[in-house]
Amino acid sequence: MTQAVISDLEIVEPEQDLEQEQLDGSMSLWNFLKTIAKYLVPYKWLVFLTLARILLESGFDSSMRVSIKLVIDQAIVPQNYDLLLLILGLLGVGVVIVAIVSLLGDYLITRFGVLLLNDIRQSLFDRVQTLSMEFFGRRSAGDVVNCFLADVEKVETSLFSGLAFAVLDLSNILFSAIFLFYLDWRLAIAASIGLAICTLLPSSVLKKATDAGFQLRQQEGQIASVVQENLVSQSVIKIFGLEQRLSNDFATRLTALQPVYTHARFLSCLVQRIPTLTFLLMQVFILGVGAVMTYHQWISVGTLVSFQTLLIGLNLNLLSFTYLLPLIIDGTAGMQRVCEVLEEIPHVQDAPDAMTLPTLSQEIQFETVRFNYAESRGGVEHLSLRIRKGDFAVFVGPSGAGKSTIINLLTRFYDPQAGRVLFDGVDVKQCSQRSLRSQIGLVSQDVILFNTSIRENIQMGCLDASDEQVETAAKAAEIHDFVVSLPQGYETKVGDRGGQLSGGQRQRIALARALVRNPAILILDEATSALDPITEAEILATLERISGDRTVIVVTHRIRQALHADTIFVMEKGHIVETGQHQELMHQNGLYAQLWRWSHANAQDRDRVICV
Ligand code: ATP
Repeated sequence: MTQAVISDLEIVEPEQDLEQEQLDGSMSLWNFLKTIAKYLVPYKWLVFLTLARILLESGFDSSMRVSIKLVIDQAIVPQNYDLLLLILGLLGVGVVIVAIVSLLGDYLITRFGVLLLNDIRQSLFDRVQTLSMEFFGRRSAGDVVNCFLADVEKVETSLFSGLAFAVLDLSNILFSAIFLFYLDWRLAIAASIGLAICTLLPSSVLKKATDAGFQLRQQEGQIASVVQENLVSQSVIKIFGLEQRLSNDFATRLTALQPVYTHARFLSCLVQRIPTLTFLLMQVFILGVGAVMTYHQWISVGTLVSFQTLLIGLNLNLLSFTYLLPLIIDGTAGMQRVCEVLEEIPHVQDAPDAMTLPTLSQEIQFETVRFNYAESRGGVEHLSLRIRKGDFAVFVGPSGAGKSTIINLLTRFYDPQAGRVLFDGVDVKQCSQRSLRSQIGLVSQDVILFNTSIRENIQMGCLDASDEQVETAAKAAEIHDFVVSLPQGYETKVGDRGGQLSGGQRQRIALARALVRNPAILILDEATSALDPITEAEILATLERISGDRTVIVVTHRIRQALHADTIFVMEKGHIVETGQHQELMHQNGLYAQLWRWSHANAQDRDRVICV
């Protein structure tokens, strides 16, 4: 069944000019930084201020450690009390300045975080609006929602709680290294070699950890989609007593997650652990060498103490840096999943020189169209048909015959693999999707209503519709009387997916939504299936009255709707097997006549064709 409702909502092109770089395996840290940099460009000043704050903090931190040498060698040992007071005073003032700057910096980072979160979510949302129905058939809603929430949050956390502090640590390490050389170059060279080993050792594990992090995020996305499916399927689960079965399935999925989780987290821990252990070894070595040098009076006591303090600080910075790595790895995996959605290429796209499709004036034509949803999946084959403007065309046929597929092609939810769909001789592929869909009002069997008022739901069909137009459409859809009988009338909220209304009421609101835009082509895809025969007859009579020169295309199993059709298309296994009007088709005594007799033979439900 056609799943979507066409509305006038703007189709927004994504603002981000994303590189279509192929992501083979997991995203590298470099690619992560490059991608995230695009989002930081509008906030250059915030980035600059954050970096300035980091430099100030780390510069002060290292200066404080090195000041120990001055305090010992220049003030305490030579008993220079004035210098001691001066150094302590300067340190005090420095602490106050750094504290104020840090607090302001924290505030900035918080604001910055939410701006970035919003930007990424907005670009994801905008991209999703441009994607074709093929994407929504392929990716589960829960997984995509997980991408919007958890993955984007991981990116934000990795940037502001991970990368920002990692830069602070690296800058501390840099300042400490400079001061180490200032104190004693020989010891500093030894420390630098140790530091290089500490940093290089985990890099081999880093790639594996990022890969594993991505796998973990993928599995978590699947779990989110299972939860989402479970939530929306509760009535089926309860009536068929599937609770235990689904709980077991969920437990199996969680069990399958365990090794992936353990692998990913253990690799993250290794990335953390390797440098800290190596650094500890290096520190013991440097202490030994430094102590021997001091013993031989090659360096002063102040230098040794200051050097060790700097080295301990450096160790702490390294420790903190490695603790931040798992956060960054998580963020990289999250960013990759976000990019997967952002880099999705819509299957149906407007041509660069797409023209505006003029309003239908003669006919819709399918010219030897072939379409399959996927290899070895259903669709239509060698399909040719004509629907004249103003015609009342009805498609009938067994379930799975391809009736809704025709609607999917007509509305360009999908493009044919061969052949053409023509409006007045113009291939719809040459026209903008918007200009095509603006002529169409669609009501499908799976009615989709938004969680807002009845009025707004109807207005979704035409955003500029006045209250009067909304009510006229509601009257035509035979729903007005019901709406005004509600305490809040048109302002009544319909609930999530219209859950606070009956199936028939939802269908009638969807019909009003399609009618309010006064479409040149009205498509009803099993749109009256949930209505009682009287309401259905009333709606069909109204449609006949208001149709005028409107083209009405109906897909139905209620074969009586075909009685007054200008053209009936009988479909079977992706082909049109019969075409004509009721009497002609009855004379042919083919599938249509069979369906008709079948429908009438059914005493319990005379209106419904049972399709096999
Ligand atoms: P019904 O009367 O039951 O709604 P239909 O005649 O409208 O059936 P279609 O919905 O057009 O049939 O489906 C035609 C074929 O295409 C079926 O075999 C169906 O399984 C397949 N199909 C429909 N939608 C998809 C999809 N999104 N992905 C893959 N296959 C699909």
